[in-house]
Amino acid sequence: MPEFQTSPGMRDVLAPESTRWRRFVQVFADVVEAAGYEQIIPPLLEDIGVFSRVGEATDVVSKEMYDFVDKGERHVALRPEQTASVCRAFVQHRPTLPWKAWYTGPNFRYEKPQRGRYRQFDQVGIEVLGVTDPGLDVEIIALGWRFFAALGLRQVTLRINSLGEPADRQRFTDALRDHFTTHLDELSPESRVTLERNPLRVLDSKRPEDAPVISAAPRIDDFYSDTAATHFEAVRSGLTSLGIPFVRDEKLVRGLDYYRFTTFEYAGGTLDSAQNALGGGGRYDGLVEDLGGPSTPGIGFALGLDRTLLACDDEGVFGAPARRLDAFVVDTTGGEQAIVVTDTLRRAGLSADRAYEGRSMKSQMKAADRSGAEVAIIIGPDELASESVVLRDLRGGADQVTVSRHDLVDRVRTIASTRSKDHS
Ligand code: AMP
Repeated sequence: MPEFQTSPGMRDVLAPESTRWRRFVQVFADVVEAAGYEQIIPPLLEDIGVFSRVGEATDVVSKEMYDFVDKGERHVALRPEQTASVCRAFVQHRPTLPWKAWYTGPNFRYEKPQRGRYRQFDQVGIEVLGVTDPGLDVEIIALGWRFFAALGLRQVTLRINSLGEPADRQRFTDALRDHFTTHLDELSPESRVTLERNPLRVLDSKRPEDAPVISAAPRIDDFYSDTAATHFEAVRSGLTSLGIPFVRDEKLVRGLDYYRFTTFEYAGGTLDSAQNALGGGGRYDGLVEDLGGPSTPGIGFALGLDRTLLACDDEGVFGAPARRLDAFVVDTTGGEQAIVVTDTLRRAGLSADRAYEGRSMKSQMKAADRSGAEVAIIIGPDELASESVVLRDLRGGADQVTVSRHDLVDRVRTIASTRSKDHS
């Protein structure tokens, strides 16, 4: 065992998985940038207040935060999520509204590591500030849906709910509190604790003993104001117009008091149920205000990269890409030619690698085979003398031809473009 290894819940991501991660983010960027979202790169570390203001009542903030006092005596935390950072950035820079931002990158939560749950994990997400139009809710939910489709996922379930306006939500919460308090003896000990902190969260309980009390609980539908009912109807009708299937889930509540109107979650069809939430989001108010800005409505989602890739594995889609190179240079004349030829190819926009240390022809050819290159470019003393190279096909058979150095780039480019068409 080496002396140093990654900490629990933290990983090194090596190729080809790292390439897959980068492509994942690229697919996401393509989907959301085509809808007018621009990337924000917030810092990994913020004043702890940015997160504690927002999520005091959540485990993520109260129990799982990586926080410490830095050398300047500032109490800071590694971000557990990025919505709060986006809102803090909005207050700090005041971009024009509506502000449509997307982000990616790692978050940190001190959780018990297991499959699909890590202490450092990546998310992609979007947030829009300054718009109350339910058409935006539809756009956002649809972008998540289109992203999963772009990855090739087919078994995603979309669940949606509305928590109503703040006053609706408050009356609903009070009614839930009354109901659960009346049936306290029938609730699990865990739900009794949850009840004290947030009666809405009791609806989240998956414990069988809580099920009868939960199913007899008041229904949010009976608490909607006209505005809330109209907003929710517009969201449902928009999704229907887009042909995006959804399930109404009255129990879908978000932990924070800030959430209102629409909430939604995407679940992977094939993952086991505890870890099947690929991501989710909703509409919130009050976050920007709490961070010192003007009252500004917001809505967004965050999707977990790990769980989404696990769902891709389960469905056999969006696999790790095979290593690909256009050319691998084998030089048995000392290495100077390899330096020049790889540089020439790379400057021409082609990908090229080479062997080092003046190894034997046999060993360099082995390296060429392992490299994933389309062709080997072989330079021995004869080729050096005649300013030519031997091009050997590494994919379709062992065909080889001698070409002049002058024609090399064009020849490799032709092979590379034919092959990349074959791959696509
Ligand atoms: P949340 O920010 O808690 O709403 O989480 C959104 C999504 O991020 C979840 O549905 C997961 O896909 C992912 N996620 C949250 N926590 C973790 C974690 N500890 N490890 C891996 N993925 C996570």
